[in-house]
Amino acid sequence: MKKFVFALSVLWIAFGCQDQKVVPVKEELKKVNDYAIIIHGGAGTILKKNMTPEKEAVYTAKLTEAIKVGYEILRQGGTSTEAVVKTIQVMEESPLFNAGKGAVFTHEETNELDASFMDGKTLNAGAVAGVTNVKSPIELALKVMTDSDHVMLSGKGASVFAKEKGLEIVDPSYFYTEKRFKSLQRIKERAKTELDHDDKKAAFYDADIKNAKFGTVGCVALDKNGNIAAGTSTGGMTNKRWGRIGDAPIIGSGTYANNNTCGVSSTGWGEYFIRSQVAYDISAQIEYQQKTLKEATQDVIQKKLTKLGGTGGVVALDKNGNMSFEFNTAGMYRASMDDKGKLVVKIYKE
Ligand code: ASP
Repeated sequence: MKKFVFALSVLWIAFGCQDQKVVPVKEELKKVNDYAIIIHGGAGTILKKNMTPEKEAVYTAKLTEAIKVGYEILRQGGTSTEAVVKTIQVMEESPLFNAGKGAVFTHEETNELDASFMDGKTLNAGAVAGVTNVKSPIELALKVMTDSDHVMLSGKGASVFAKEKGLEIVDPSYFYTEKRFKSLQRIKERAKTELDHDDKKAAFYDADIKNAKFGTVGCVALDKNGNIAAGTSTGGMTNKRWGRIGDAPIIGSGTYANNNTCGVSSTGWGEYFIRSQVAYDISAQIEYQQKTLKEATQDVIQKKLTKLGGTGGVVALDKNGNMSFEFNTAGMYRASMDDKGKLVVKIYKE
């Protein structure tokens, strides 16, 4: 009997295997870029009718300046880590984006900044939350990764650590911009006068979420050694409660990187991105379901996040150098550069 079962198994293996189809390699699973970089400057209701050609030009120029910094580093053989941090710093120093200098205000009229960084080679990561006096939160997030035993530091502890490591400390007034302060006042005013009690909950995050321009910044890069790095930096959401932490510093939500799959940086209504584990879900779909980057980002943003009621988007870059911008809002400030130096800068849907 045993011999019979054995013979049957041999026959099944021999002939059964012949039936297996050779799965063609999807186009996206082939190497398309040796190195590449992709960035966002936030998603939201960014409509052409509300923009002026001057404003468009200013955003386009800043996105171009930022991405070229990272691209040059990659082109010269530098690391994706350096490219991501230096690119984000250009955007943190600009008042145009809701990160660093241009951070939005909390309900208490302060600025509390969040950031995170992840290295796709080691799966090591660093993050900071609720930082009030560190000029470059992304630099601090990287320091948490490289110089501490922890992944995330918050508030005062993060500031003390930044000082110890010699990072640039600024007076909190450095983050004051009239534009952001005025939008807080507008939101507070609207919440007081127009909305009933239930609506106030939503108003707490933004008086009109549909008109919100999130403005967070993020970057993903693939270097010549095949290493992927991702980073995200933000002021959070206007009128957020003191102590509120969004998705940007949460590894797996706002930022994720894995050399075997992809890197992702998110922007949008953070609470939904945390609940959906957006960045990790994209990587997991590639890892466990063999999806392409496009398929995975589309599924997570257009199906899962949208179904939950979340708004926003991601920029993502896989190990083969494929890139994807995916968002369910009217627009997203975004740019990419491939290894041929081809630059794409976009604001609206198409
Ligand atoms: N995701 C950020 C947060 O919720 C906001 C943004 O992307 O602009 O804090």
